[in-house]
Amino acid sequence: MELPRHNLVVWTMGNLSARDPESGLVVIKPSGIRYDDLTPENMVVVDLNGQVVEGDYKPSSDTASHCYIYRQRPDINGVVHTHSRYATAFAALGMPIPCVLTGMADEFGGPIPCGGFALIGGEEIGKEVVRCMSEGAISAVIMQNHGVFTAATTPEGAVKAAVMVEDNAATTWLAMQLGTPVPIPEESIAKLHHRYMHVYGQQ
Ligand code: 13P
Repeated sequence: MELPRHNLVVWTMGNLSARDPESGLVVIKPSGIRYDDLTPENMVVVDLNGQVVEGDYKPSSDTASHCYIYRQRPDINGVVHTHSRYATAFAALGMPIPCVLTGMADEFGGPIPCGGFALIGGEEIGKEVVRCMSEGAISAVIMQNHGVFTAATTPEGAVKAAVMVEDNAATTWLAMQLGTPVPIPEESIAKLHHRYMHVYGQQ
């Protein structure tokens, strides 16, 4: 429900899953069900190979990709996918979202990479997401011609990353209408990210 609340998805688009670290099972949104109609009962529980363990509905079309990410990355327990507009505009161009805002440096510590085109339905998206994420500590990837995938140690963290991707993508896009955004030096990006991760807030 956080995804439509933050205007990150429309109708039945996008999806979210969470892994229970104890059982290893994954709960995922059913495919093609409107967000208003989602209830705990109609979520689908799958194993790490995407086989349905519990639930009356077909799991999300991106189940195989979510499961691929969980299998490859034991540290990740939440995956989110959206078609949020500004970030997906970058994806339509196959263009990474540059790190030209402190908010971006804080949350992501660098640009958001753009994965190559992949069809929906199998593991291909998951493979591209894992490949792009292994190139840095990045918790978000945009997939060319498709949209945003985020992953974090908790489902809430993955939702937060999806919100932050869109916020930074929107401001960056607006800036690009006015001129050429000014890059932040790499050492400053690293310092901003470190402060946000280790000093910012109540710790
Ligand atoms: P599902 O409704 O099957 O999750 O599909 C939505 C989507 O955005 C696929 O990429």
